[in-house]
Amino acid sequence: MRAITRALAEDAVEAIVIAGSQKIFSGGADIREFGQPAQYPSLVDVIDAIEQSPKPVVAAIHGVALGGGLELTLACHGRLAADGARLGLPEVTLGLIPGAGGTQRLPRLVPLTQALPMLVLGEPVDASSAAACGLIDRAVEPEALFKATQDLALDLARRPLRMTRDLPVRAIGDANALIEAFSLKHEARIKGRDAPAAALAALRDAVSQPVETALARERAVSLDLRAGAQSRALRHLHFAERQVFRYPGLESASPRAIERVGIVGAGTMGRGIALSMISAGLPVTLVEPKADILGHARTAIANSLASSVAKGRMLEADGVAASQRLTCAADLASLDDADLIVEAAYERMEVKQDIFARLDQVARPGAMLASNTSYLDIDAIASATRRPQDVVGLHFFSPANLMRLLEIVRGDRTAPDVLATSLALARRIAKIPVVAGNCHGFIGNRMLAVRRAQAEAMLTEGADIGEMDEVVESFGFPMGPFRMADLAGLDLGWSAAISRGASIRERLNEAGRHGQKAGAGFYDYDAAGKPSPSSVVMDLVRGFAAARGIVQRRIGRDEMRTRLFLPMIDEGVRILAEGIALRPGDIDVVWVNGYGWPRHTGGPMHYAEAMGLAEVANGLSAIGLKPSRALSDLVAAGAPLASLAHPEA
Ligand code: NAD
Repeated sequence: MRAITRALAEDAVEAIVIAGSQKIFSGGADIREFGQPAQYPSLVDVIDAIEQSPKPVVAAIHGVALGGGLELTLACHGRLAADGARLGLPEVTLGLIPGAGGTQRLPRLVPLTQALPMLVLGEPVDASSAAACGLIDRAVEPEALFKATQDLALDLARRPLRMTRDLPVRAIGDANALIEAFSLKHEARIKGRDAPAAALAALRDAVSQPVETALARERAVSLDLRAGAQSRALRHLHFAERQVFRYPGLESASPRAIERVGIVGAGTMGRGIALSMISAGLPVTLVEPKADILGHARTAIANSLASSVAKGRMLEADGVAASQRLTCAADLASLDDADLIVEAAYERMEVKQDIFARLDQVARPGAMLASNTSYLDIDAIASATRRPQDVVGLHFFSPANLMRLLEIVRGDRTAPDVLATSLALARRIAKIPVVAGNCHGFIGNRMLAVRRAQAEAMLTEGADIGEMDEVVESFGFPMGPFRMADLAGLDLGWSAAISRGASIRERLNEAGRHGQKAGAGFYDYDAAGKPSPSSVVMDLVRGFAAARGIVQRRIGRDEMRTRLFLPMIDEGVRILAEGIALRPGDIDVVWVNGYGWPRHTGGPMHYAEAMGLAEVANGLSAIGLKPSRALSDLVAAGAPLASLAHPEA
């Protein structure tokens, strides 16, 4: 504001250029300031001064212009960007809408069809698409940016200036119909979320209201959203997802070099992990003793790369390079030069121990040995080697090439530099890592097991499968527990040899109902994979209950909700109290990125705190479950979950 005031006052100044002084133009507001009272001049004041300036103001954008940074440029009289620059309004991802005129100026510069994905989904554009749609005047080579901007500014000084807000909204045809069609098309992504709905409403205002009215509404709505629960939850996750990279005690540990990766087992997980590594530039040797499975894996990986290329998610040359990084082998001996070996074989301790004992013979000294185990004791696996310090859990989620979460399981003797390497690897392959302590199921699956136990207990007591799934889905999960179990496969960790019909799940497996892939699990599936209720399962459940003397009853949705959510939350509190998770936010990051917990509620721990820990404890007591000691203590002390976090985390 000071610079603009000065430039306007000095007669010698004909035109004004705004440029970033460091690596980027502007990344937008510092969201840590959001809780604090506004100070003069606000961004809106600065933007108004720019737009109304009698001398032309032109933005020279390099690196990124995001959020408030981009809003500032929208009010300028011209915009140039360096090739490769990224421009966007990502506010919705934090539960907000732009509050400094972005929702009104954007659709006056770019066609509505382009403004919609930018505002409602928060999708950024690069400099060349920005030039194509009119968001900027031109993209130029980075070295030429400042000079070109100066020239444009001086050129504009010789012409009448126009304010962006005075331009008409760029819509061809029926603008409202366009907005409705977009909202319908993206209904699944938008449902239940305040910010995208507000962005849509702001665009409706842009086409129907005088600009002053629309700007005032935008401002008011953006402030409301900022104070609202959804934005608070999303901001919490924003910070939590950055904090997970910080693990106390690793300050002096330097990561080991990872140049070659070995993967053991070419099943569902081995394939996905291989894809994720080769796509990130790491050469992989995939070992699988069964020739047919290895052949399928090779084809599946090639197909997946080809489909990424076809969908425009990957350059053709990158796809080819990635496929050339894959080597397939039948024997563990070919892993002798690997810096990291990830085991993804069957989920049975004796299988894992056998493989790790053999890897101990084969792997070079200093190689990291990781298991993708979902539940098993990482120390017991490490004990099969003479180098437990090199052993760690790297728990990927299915499909491993797409799911962002990586649980890193720290064994009793895992070396600090192995943890540091795991965190660095996560960054390299674009995963969000969470370090977990060693216990049955670690953070995510340990809580999942509690939800599953409740779901299956309610099923035995007479609750309807479809209704239980709906309760979880209406909360915002993409899939309820039964549909998710069917998709993952009911036979994960199950074996015919030891199955004794002790649970409904074992019974279903014994009946060949292994889930969606078998066409039958908790649901029946048609050829297209569409689920429908199964009378076979209902009979089986009734028989199972009768044999145990359980009288079935009608179970309502409130009870379902309580039992499906509160016990798993309480398990999260235990996990925190035991130090298995370092901070409450780590648990939220696990559930949001690994299990589909709806982002806008912040994750299970944030949700519990928003609801009130006392409320959680009372809810558990009301259904006859005793809250954990850890939860009761917090409630008695009126202390927050953060009081259970690691002191240095
Ligand atoms: P899978 O059955 O699809 O694949 C396992 C593969 O390992 C098979 O191809 C098998 O032939 C091979 N294998 C078995 N013994 C071997 C040996 N000694 N040497 C080399 N290869 C061997 O199983 P999956 O679903 O890919 O699961 C693998 C591991 O990942 C398990 O520990 C599982 O708990 C874990 N996991 C699975 C999921 C999931 O959703 N599927 C998610 C996270 C973790």
